[in-house]
Amino acid sequence: NCCTDSWLHCQHTFELSRVRPLNDKEHKSNDHMVVQFPGSGQILCDGIPGGPSGGQKPKLFGYNVVFEPGASQDDVLQYSGIKRIIEMAIEGFSCTAFCYGQTGSGKTHTLTGPPDLFYGRKPDPSDSRHGLVFRAFLYLFQLLQERKDTNFILKASFLEIYNEKVIDLLNSGSARKPLAVRWSKKSRGFFVENLFTVDCEELDDLLAVLEEGMRNRSVGSHRMNDYSSRSHTILSVHITSEQQAENGVFISKQGKINFVDLAGSEMTKKTNSEGKTLEEANNINKSLMVLGYCIASLSDSKKRNGHIPYRDSKLTKLLADSLAGNGVTLMIACVSPAKSNISETLNTLRYAARAK
Ligand code: ADP
Ligand code: MG
Repeated sequence: NCCTDSWLHCQHTFELSRVRPLNDKEHKSNDHMVVQFPGSGQILCDGIPGGPSGGQKPKLFGYNVVFEPGASQDDVLQYSGIKRIIEMAIEGFSCTAFCYGQTGSGKTHTLTGPPDLFYGRKPDPSDSRHGLVFRAFLYLFQLLQERKDTNFILKASFLEIYNEKVIDLLNSGSARKPLAVRWSKKSRGFFVENLFTVDCEELDDLLAVLEEGMRNRSVGSHRMNDYSSRSHTILSVHITSEQQAENGVFISKQGKINFVDLAGSEMTKKTNSEGKTLEEANNINKSLMVLGYCIASLSDSKKRNGHIPYRDSKLTKLLADSLAGNGVTLMIACVSPAKSNISETLNTLRYAARAK
């Protein structure tokens, strides 16, 4: 019954925040940090404009884990809870790690590291810039190798949702032809028709999926300005395991882990502020808006058991099983510490923390 109160407070959800360092541009323009870390798991925002007397009172937010600007990529692996999530995926649960936040807040940096890691030559595995996905894959294989009594089958896919079109990031031969999302009666879930899924017997197979998808993602972003800030990517690893119990019976499990790099959260605000309906939002970012609706409904105890509009966007259809509480979710709110970004930072922190 941990989920009756609020989805975001459910113990199956971990709420984290990562605050990136000030960047060169912010340093040069004499912008400054308005984010402080008064206690463990806490973020305090100061310098909030508005109110009759000028500035507003500082606001305090609480998280399971807070990564300060000095945190390394390895710190995120060690302290984010992702290891626990990978263990659960092996045990047959559907798990999801999201990065949420405005464009430039560090979502892609946190999940995959800088995209140029994947351009050209094969990335160096010891590169300190590697993100959570790469590190999680290493940890996953380490665990699988320790489990000599169990047979594992891994399958991976990598897709992008742009303007409600699902594009396969592993099948570049398809010339970015959009794929259909359908309902499966058999598995009682949504799936992407004809999505390329790669059998991954070895760690290198899984890493090749990451590299190939990252390279194909960049094709879209070169073609169109703003592309990567408007697209969502989902990298999924399906883990099937079979093990013989002591009494000789076979036990099989089917788990999954999704890594989701969301579109820039400034898109939702644009949609709302222009008073657009769900239909009209199509061109801006329907999926991000519907994700907001679903999360808000799930976190309201009165609405939780009512209608949740998963079917209204591709992203929420594909993540419905995980969002519904059938799995574990890790939401990383990525924010800038700069005064110039304070209003987006407040929106992001509010979205992912709720008043604790
Ligand atoms: P987003 O994906 O949210 O739009 P990025 O991950 O592309 O943002 O980050 C924007 C820029 O800031 C990139 O150049 C990235 O390398 C840098 N950056 C983001 N987070 C960090 C961090 N924690 N440490 C150092 N640089 C970071
Ligand atoms: Mg990005």
